[in-house]
Amino acid sequence: MKLIITIDTEEDNWARYSATDNSVENIARIVPLQKMFDEYGVRPTYLVTYPVATNPRSVAILKRILEEGKCEIGTHCHPWNTPPFDDNGGFQKAHSMLCNLPAEFQQNKLAMLHEVITKNFGCLPVSFRAGRWALGLSAAQSLCKLGYRVETSVTPFVSWSPSFGPDFSNFGPEPFRFSPPGEPKWSLLQVPTSIGYLQKNFQLCQRLSRALDNPFSRISRVKGILDRLGLVNKVWLSPELADADAMIALAKRMEINNFPCINMTFHSASLLAGLSPFVRISQDEQVFFGRIKKLLEAARQAGWKSMPLAQFEAVYEGVSEPGGVALLDGQGQMARQRQTEQMRALFRNQGARL
Ligand SMILES: [Zn+2]
Repeated sequence: MKLIITIDTEEDNWARYSATDNSVENIARIVPLQKMFDEYGVRPTYLVTYPVATNPRSVAILKRILEEGKCEIGTHCHPWNTPPFDDNGGFQKAHSMLCNLPAEFQQNKLAMLHEVITKNFGCLPVSFRAGRWALGLSAAQSLCKLGYRVETSVTPFVSWSPSFGPDFSNFGPEPFRFSPPGEPKWSLLQVPTSIGYLQKNFQLCQRLSRALDNPFSRISRVKGILDRLGLVNKVWLSPELADADAMIALAKRMEINNFPCINMTFHSASLLAGLSPFVRISQDEQVFFGRIKKLLEAARQAGWKSMPLAQFEAVYEGVSEPGGVALLDGQGQMARQRQTEQMRALFRNQGARL
């Protein structure tokens, strides 16, 4: 199993949705983070926003790591601070989701962000995550045209519908290839964030969990009881939302279930106390770094090799590298097919909405 670490590398201004005045102080905290990664031979993927890609200080910090061959730089689009801007009318919260913008705006913003990253970092980004996980059909089509190979916006078993975003609740954490409608000749590898259950059958746990989410169900309290009894435990592979033991338990479960990779995710703003809701005071910072370190220690012991997204894409079929990802058994094939179907359904629903 491969270890992938994807970091939304972004401005300090958490959930402010401002087009201007975005500071990037948290990027300096990537220096000690990267030092820890180096100790464990880990190469992360930093997915950068427009303010980070255009600030000389943050570019210098990340470019140095890139030039030493210790990371990959990918793209992370926050539509509210990526030009061009619509100067007609004010900002609507639904527009913080890239997928809700007119197709032309999505294309133009992605082209602009791609261009500044290419120019300022001197590399061609091939991996992408939408801000607020808001992947849409137009963005996926634009990514194909811009030559991207990897997409990582899917949050399995989670719906962002209440915030006007995509519903990923029927997706699992298996990576899979897909071609957006209109781009049959290009495929993107989707590497979802690792969100799963500590129990063996993820899909069954999800069905049970959703049934208990039903607001008309009188038994919604049962969900908490199942969690406490250790019968249905949903875990994000993120130090923002899980402690080290839970993350390691999920990673081990995914290894037993034959997943080819785990994808740990967090925001760079969580590296500096007081910016994100997950790390409020300096003690939280230490806890946060400690959780990551413990996961890296477990990865070293288990022999999970770290690689950036683009490299994982290259070995995904298991042919490019000896000892690469093993070919999938029948169950794995079915899981991939189910995922591809879910992506088609997601695009269909968005097409219907436009
Ligand atoms: Zn973001």
